[in-house]
Amino acid sequence: MLIVMKHSAREDEIRRVVETIQDMGYEARPIPGRQRTAIGLIGNDGNVDADRLEGLPGVLQVIPVTRPYKQVSREWKDEPTLVTLQNGTRIGGNEIAVMAGPCSVESEPQILEIAHRLKEAGATVLRGGAFKPRTSPYAFQGLGVRGLELLARAREETGMAVVTEALDPEGVELVAQHADIIQIGARNMQNYSLLRRAGASGKPILLKRGMAAKIEELLLSAEYILAEGNGQVILCERGVRSFDNHTRNLLDLTAIPVVHALSHLPIIADPSHGTGVRAKVTPMARAAVAAGADGIMVEVHPNPNHALSDGAQSLYPEQFEDLMKQIAVIAMAIGRGLVPSLAEGKARGRGSRDRALS
Ligand code: PEP
Ligand code: MN
Repeated sequence: MLIVMKHSAREDEIRRVVETIQDMGYEARPIPGRQRTAIGLIGNDGNVDADRLEGLPGVLQVIPVTRPYKQVSREWKDEPTLVTLQNGTRIGGNEIAVMAGPCSVESEPQILEIAHRLKEAGATVLRGGAFKPRTSPYAFQGLGVRGLELLARAREETGMAVVTEALDPEGVELVAQHADIIQIGARNMQNYSLLRRAGASGKPILLKRGMAAKIEELLLSAEYILAEGNGQVILCERGVRSFDNHTRNLLDLTAIPVVHALSHLPIIADPSHGTGVRAKVTPMARAAVAAGADGIMVEVHPNPNHALSDGAQSLYPEQFEDLMKQIAVIAMAIGRGLVPSLAEGKARGRGSRDRALS
């Protein structure tokens, strides 16, 4: 339930609503907005006396939130959520963020070499798995803590932000110490203890859609993170299982406008896992940007043929450079731009133009 205050509501009136909600035995969460403040009532068991709240001074309206997910819904908060990283990358606004890197961190030269190239090409977030969820227990499982340290090193050298996966609740703290964004992988989308722990870390979270998850289930999983008081959540469409085997998954680009209509959270697309086929990554990345994605996550490897995981879907660095040029044009065509490059002298898209003019 949402208690919307009048434009003219005073601080003491807002406080009184909060206290009344608490007095009724529920949690109150004020949501300041550009126009007016709303107060979310958390824990509605169906017995809330709405009349009591409606009659309080300063209250404009009491709205029942009809969706099963509450805090992630547009009903709850209409303004888009902006996830802001320390290096200035903002996800969820007009700028499109590009996250790129190898599937796995494999060695110091590998991650440093690719990080520099990606930065030069305009990516501002470096991806790379240190703890890998592999289908086979005999496949490369990642470098673990050493991988996290190498990512941190790459961040120091390049200024890129780092996104990497936490596989289990016990690993969240460790990942939080090294990463700017904690990734929750597709296989873990409904690992609720992991979601809670990641939410409680207070770090931005990248939540990937499960390979057989409905959009509503994705939003409910995000709700677990917001319920921990952490609103810095980025959703990621990474393809769902289908009957066709031309691609590894079916990248569901419809999820982008659907999520934007239902939720204030940003959503990015991962055409690498979404297709599993190198030649299909660039076309689907272009399509994702055209469909309104707030960012893309792409696997790029300095030497894909020798990658320890997901080589077949990893772009060559030159392909990534071309991709960046193409999506900058697409972004411009839909009135957006790319997050400004960290590399000096590289102005791309509207974001950097605005910065140059200001
Ligand atoms: C990944 O991004 O490295 C990954 C394992 O992705 P997903 O969880 O989408 O399979
Ligand atoms: Mn991968």
